Amino acid sequence: MNNRARAFPRFVLLAGLTLGIVLALVWSMVLSERGIRRLYLEFEAYRASTVLAEAFRLSPNLVPVDNRVLGFGIYSQDGSVLFRMGTAPGRLAIPVAPASFPKMRIGASSLILERPLGPEGSDMPGMGFMMRRSRPGGQPPPFGGRPFGGMGFSLSTMPRALWLEYGIGGYARQRLALLGGAAFATLALLGVFILLVRLYRRNAELRESEIRSRELVQLGEAARTLVHEIKNPLGVIRIQAATLKRLGGSEAAEKARAKALLIDEEVLRLAGLADRIREFLKGGEGEARELELRSWLRDFVARYSGQLALSGENDTGPAWVRVDPERLSLALDNLVRNALEACPDPAPDVALARRGRQWELVVSDDGPGVPAELVQRIFEPFFTTKEKGTGIGLALARRVARSAGGELAYRSRPGGGAVFVLSLPARRGTSR
Ligand code: ADP
Repeated sequence: MNNRARAFPRFVLLAGLTLGIVLALVWSMVLSERGIRRLYLEFEAYRASTVLAEAFRLSPNLVPVDNRVLGFGIYSQDGSVLFRMGTAPGRLAIPVAPASFPKMRIGASSLILERPLGPEGSDMPGMGFMMRRSRPGGQPPPFGGRPFGGMGFSLSTMPRALWLEYGIGGYARQRLALLGGAAFATLALLGVFILLVRLYRRNAELRESEIRSRELVQLGEAARTLVHEIKNPLGVIRIQAATLKRLGGSEAAEKARAKALLIDEEVLRLAGLADRIREFLKGGEGEARELELRSWLRDFVARYSGQLALSGENDTGPAWVRVDPERLSLALDNLVRNALEACPDPAPDVALARRGRQWELVVSDDGPGVPAELVQRIFEPFFTTKEKGTGIGLALARRVARSAGGELAYRSRPGGGAVFVLSLPARRGTSR
């Protein structure tokens, strides 16, 4: 992996770590805030229960009303109710093990508290509660030392536990807002993270393609010089080979003639390659002019004398585009040459079709098609899978299409084979 390739995972890791730390901070703040609010609420409920219990102890008939208290009850050891208001139950299950007292449950809109009265651990904790003085040095309760409710102290009349339901509407709303806010912040941060990763990747791709095109420009310059330098010696070699070919008579001369033919063949190939590279490097739109594709295509196919099939011959109506006909011919020649190399029989098909605002020249063949993993690469200059290929044909054809405002694309054929679509913008007044 090179540096550029390593940079992306490093960036994702770093951004992910930062996101993790920020999220951990947000959530720990939210949870601790929630904890504080809950503690405060518990304290409030406890305080309310103490106030009510105290009021009950001083005068069971004068327990004050607190509008946050939805229910309040005092119960004896066997669970029967001694005092009850609001939603308080008729009986309370008093736990045997003191460890499970006090109990607190927070529901959607209220908190329920069950707690013992009086000191834990004594035989009759309720008695301690009833006999307690309000303040150190203060007066004993009105019935302090007297039997509670006019009855003698017994387990069934001695207050043992209280039950309180406390309204927490405000707390529930705050808790929801807090958790909702934190969830929203989490989603927003995740969104920012994804956006950053995408932007980073897009930026890296742009940088990569900028570097590639700069390299291609340099390569193009080098190729231009090379082609120029190659053409002259090739001309000289051809002339010399032609002289050799004219030799005749002796056996040695015949051998030299055969070799000269080989030289000629290779020189021709090299010259052809040099020409194609030069064409490719020319770029630009050439001499673009208004061209009627339908009749132009008929003439083009005729040049291949039966090697090509033309579909949609009965279609009528002009198909105007703006392009340099020579360069278009060059581009289509490359597509047809590839199609013929892939499968000459049945003859490749050429068609003209209208799609939206484009005219499409479609070249299809019944050959093997392009393997899916190569589809992205076949338009790169100098990419070839052929032994004597140059890898320039498709790059050149695409360049011609693009410089005329169109595109060249590959489509696979459902039954196998390749389809190349060269599209060009339709000119005004030509739509059917
Ligand atoms: P070349 O023909 O010299 O290889 P091209 O640029 O024309 O260069 O084509 C590049 C590659 O695209 C070919 O080597 C081949 O792998 C693939 N290709 C092009 N046309 C076809 C086709 N009709 N069927 C299958 N593969 C094709």
